Amino acid sequence: MNQHIHCSVSNCHYWNQGNKCQANEIVVVSDSLADKYPDNIDAPKAATIPATPANTCMATCCKTFVEQGSNKTNVDGVTKLS
Ligand code: SF4
Repeated sequence: MNQHIHCSVSNCHYWNQGNKCQANEIVVVSDSLADKYPDNIDAPKAATIPATPANTCMATCCKTFVEQGSNKTNVDGVTKLS
């Protein structure tokens, strides 16, 4: 259950009070992969994403992030828990 994912990125579509992520699933990747892969490649397709080692936490990111109010909230198959 993603109620255990804590995140402070408060302008994300999936963010909720108490720094809780309300996405039904997320995928974390390297910054370099996130740059290259389109928005529709996300957690539901995680098994098809190549492994992406990183040397520091600064080189990783949540690829599931989508800005609140964006018209891209439905392109990747991730849903928001109610
Ligand atoms: S989808 Fe990622 S960036 Fe958005 S609230 Fe969840 S963990 Fe944070």
